[in-house]
Amino acid sequence: MPSPARLIVDLNALSANFHTLARIGGVPVHPVVKADAYGLGAAAVARKLMTEGADTFFVARLSEGEALRQTLGSRPNIYVLDGCGPNDVLRLQAARLRPVLNAPEQIRRWLGSDGGPSALQIDTGMNRLGIRPEDAPEPFPGLEIVLSHLACADDPFDALNTSQRSAFELVSRRYPGVVRSFANAGGTFLGADFAFDALRPGISLYGGGPEGRPDDRLRPVAAFRADVIQIRDVPEGETVGYARGFTAEHPTALAIVSVGYADGVLRSNYPNGKVWVGDALRPIIGRISMDLIAVDITGLKVSPGDTVELFGPYRMIDDAAADAGTIAYELITSVSTRVPRVYVG
Ligand SMILES: *Cc1c(COP(=O)(O)O)cnc(C)c1O
Repeated sequence: MPSPARLIVDLNALSANFHTLARIGGVPVHPVVKADAYGLGAAAVARKLMTEGADTFFVARLSEGEALRQTLGSRPNIYVLDGCGPNDVLRLQAARLRPVLNAPEQIRRWLGSDGGPSALQIDTGMNRLGIRPEDAPEPFPGLEIVLSHLACADDPFDALNTSQRSAFELVSRRYPGVVRSFANAGGTFLGADFAFDALRPGISLYGGGPEGRPDDRLRPVAAFRADVIQIRDVPEGETVGYARGFTAEHPTALAIVSVGYADGVLRSNYPNGKVWVGDALRPIIGRISMDLIAVDITGLKVSPGDTVELFGPYRMIDDAAADAGTIAYELITSVSTRVPRVYVG
C-alpha cells in the first residue's frame, strides 16, 4: 500500500532558518506561528523554536493563543495580533496572553481591566490594523512592544517601504524603552535599518524566500509528498481527466498520484502546475481532482509506489506557488487536515 499524502516538516531546517534570520537582522526573532505555524503545526514548531531560544511568539487568533499556551506552558510571551475585542479580556487574561492593541477602545478596555502586558500596533501606511501615527496614544502601563507591519516588504523597490520605515521611526520615539518590532520576513531582507529591536518573521522561518523567490540562505522546511498509485499510457488523441482538460497530442505516459484539492493541491495548478517525480520536474496534466492528479512521465522510469513532491527540497515552494498563480503563503497554509504532518530532526 502506498503511504497517504504527507507533509514532512524538517525541524532542523526550521532551526537553521531561525538563526539565519536572527543573524541577518542582528536582533532577536519573535516567530509568527499564526494559522498553526502556516500549516506546519504550531505545537511542534513553537516547541522547537523555544529550544533554539525564542521566548516571544505571535498568533493571529485568541483561540490560537489559548492552544499555544496549553502547549508551551507559562514561560513564553504570546501576543495575539487580532487585539482585544469586547469579549476577549477574561480569556486573554486566563491564558496569560498579550493583545496587540489596535484601536483606542481596545487600549481603554485592556487598561480598564488591569489587563497586564500588551503591544501597540501603529498603522504606518498599510491601512489594515492599528492606530494612525497622528493618533498614537501616550505611553501606558504594561506596554512592552510597539509594532507596525509592512505592506510591500516583498518588493524592495516599493517606495512605501521607506515611507513606512520613517513613519515608524518617528512615532516609536514616543515610547522610549519599549521594544520596536517592524520587519516581517520580507522586511528582514530589506536592510539593517528595517530591523529595529525585534523581527517578526513568518514565511521565511518555513522556507519561503524574500521577493517570492527561493533564497540560498534559507532551507526548505516543508515537503508535501504523495505516491504514484497507477501508471497508464494514453493513446494519441484521447483526453485526460475532468472536462477533458488535456488532449494527448502524442502517446503520453501518465502517473496517477493520490493527492488532490481535498489535500490542498490548488485547482489553480491547472494548467501550469509541476511536480518533482523520477528525478525530473514534470507537468501536472489536466484538472486537479479531489483526490488525484495526473503527471506526464513520458520517457521517465516511474512505478507505482514512487514518490512525487509538490513542494519541498526538490521543488522550491516559491516556484510551485508561482506556477499555481499564487504565493508560498497560500500553498503552505492550504495543505488540509487530511494530510498527516510528519516531523523529522
Ligand atoms: C503575518 C504577519 C507577520 C509575518 O509575516 P511574514 O510575511 O510571514 O513574515 C508579521 N507581522 C504581522 C502583523 C503579521 O500579520
